[in-house]
Amino acid sequence: MRPCFTLLATLAVATTAPAQAPPLRPAQPATPVLIKAGRLIDGRSDAPQAGVGILIEGDRIKAVGPLAQVQGQAKGARVIDLAQMTVLPGFIDTHTHLLLQGDPTAESYNEQLLYESTPYRAILAARNARIALEHGFTAIRDLETEGAMYADVDVKRAVDRGEIPGPRIFASTRAMAPTGMYPIVSDNWELELPHGVQPVDGVEGARLAVRQQVAHGADWIKFYADRRYYFGPAPDSVLHSWVNFTDDEARALVDEAHRLGRKVAAHAIGSDGIAAALRAGVNTIEHGDGMTDSLLDVLVAKGVYWVPTVTVAYYVAGPRGGAWGPMVEHQHRAFTRGLRKGVRIVLGTDVGGFPWTELNQAKEFEYYVQYGMTPMQAIKSGTSLAAELLGQRDLGVVAAGAYADLVAVAGDPVKDVAELSRVRFVMKGGVTYLSP
Ligand SMILES: [Zn+2]
Repeated sequence: MRPCFTLLATLAVATTAPAQAPPLRPAQPATPVLIKAGRLIDGRSDAPQAGVGILIEGDRIKAVGPLAQVQGQAKGARVIDLAQMTVLPGFIDTHTHLLLQGDPTAESYNEQLLYESTPYRAILAARNARIALEHGFTAIRDLETEGAMYADVDVKRAVDRGEIPGPRIFASTRAMAPTGMYPIVSDNWELELPHGVQPVDGVEGARLAVRQQVAHGADWIKFYADRRYYFGPAPDSVLHSWVNFTDDEARALVDEAHRLGRKVAAHAIGSDGIAAALRAGVNTIEHGDGMTDSLLDVLVAKGVYWVPTVTVAYYVAGPRGGAWGPMVEHQHRAFTRGLRKGVRIVLGTDVGGFPWTELNQAKEFEYYVQYGMTPMQAIKSGTSLAAELLGQRDLGVVAAGAYADLVAVAGDPVKDVAELSRVRFVMKGGVTYLSP
């Protein structure tokens, strides 16, 4: 029955969709593809190269080099002419929420958890996956569903099976916080309201929750290290927070995740939360607004990645008020110091915290340049360095053997990083999703 239904659905769309719409289930091209790139930024090198040929077979890159040379190996290949463009590796956003449509205020968050079903939210997530791909993001680490249980794994499965277009998804499912330390929290004790995370208490509870999430498809484990952010007295004005888990709980959580081959991301905004997460041995710090010099040194010493999510910080500062505005400036200063110290700062936006339909995730590249990175450093933070965070050596680079995940822009992003928000060509695994 199923193939017939799929066929009917495809036919129905074919008669109504505009001619340039990509196929519902794009097939892997049978013949090799030769891309003629006017300029190539390969994700690793410090300078762009001119006049490059990229030969693709199946879902991988077979050869990259001077056009004349690669052309020699590309007999019978279909040519994609990007001679007037700059080709880059597909972008990677290491902090997203496919199941969320913006939560500048508590009300906007509660509205989604209380009045929208998980199936409805999953439909929007499928739309969001397509938006991400069309903006050039060929891989994302989705850092929890905000109450939508394991629906991120379903979206990932649909993308992997070619049912819907979307990036490669590294899913983290439900995330964790102790009882009462994450919304929705209500004064009405008669009602059991939905939780944005899996409530987890005690060392054994932590191990069990990790096992449950991994069993349901979590590629990463995420926990909320802190809440309640406030500034200490001047002149230091350290950004403090209340720590959620006991050290024993957090250590058990990280240990169990690592035992099962999963890395751990910690939401940690205040210095106290960042310190607690680092003590527990996490792999990545999310947001990290309250970074101090000594915490930045620990990041360098332990090889922990920092995912600052600047785009969302600007988006929520106004509506949330209070400490959220000064936190942006605090993070800006820490970012600049972290850069000087050699902290591995990786691109992550927290999209979903702002609506997918409102801002392009590639805006994050612009903030990093504004904060002191060179455009090339910013590009690496959203390509090769992000792939390193994910432990995916075949992503984030344009090199022989890597996946054929590519984007192209019309201008030169080294001269104007905002070009990255105007992607004209997108390929994932050898399949073209957007053409100039
Ligand atoms: Zn987030």
